[in-house]
Amino acid sequence: MEQLMTLATFNENSKAEPLKERLKGAEIWSEIYDESAAQKTWFMTNEPKAHIRLRVKKEDFENAQKLLKDWDATEGVLRDAVRCPECGSSRIEYPQFSRRTGVSAGFALLASTGIIDRTYYCENCQFTWPDKPTEKPDLDVLNWPKDGKSNTSL
Ligand SMILES: [Zn+2]
Repeated sequence: MEQLMTLATFNENSKAEPLKERLKGAEIWSEIYDESAAQKTWFMTNEPKAHIRLRVKKEDFENAQKLLKDWDATEGVLRDAVRCPECGSSRIEYPQFSRRTGVSAGFALLASTGIIDRTYYCENCQFTWPDKPTEKPDLDVLNWPKDGKSNTSL
């Protein structure tokens, strides 16, 4: 069995596809792993998050990560990825506790009712941060910049 490592994390399959193609062009094999079914089962959510994982073989990981860094700097290929607010890595686990604590139905139930916070976890720097409540759709009316823009005017 090959050992696979998460290279990047996305909320949508379609956002991960172009990157998979890019890697293929660089002769790096990758696969898109969809975790939404597991999230639905464990956390009873119909809105899985950070559930699309682009994974590469361990032996290719370092190379792939370098390419990714270059592509992101020049073309912003990680624009739509889920990223760590601390280090910018896209190797994100969510919800964090599922891997740390192990999953039991009772625990998942607590999480689904909001008693336990769902937390993102960065595999790169171990930073954790809370899931934000769903943004209100009318936020756009105020012309606030949506995510993806770092040049917030002050
Ligand atoms: Zn990080």
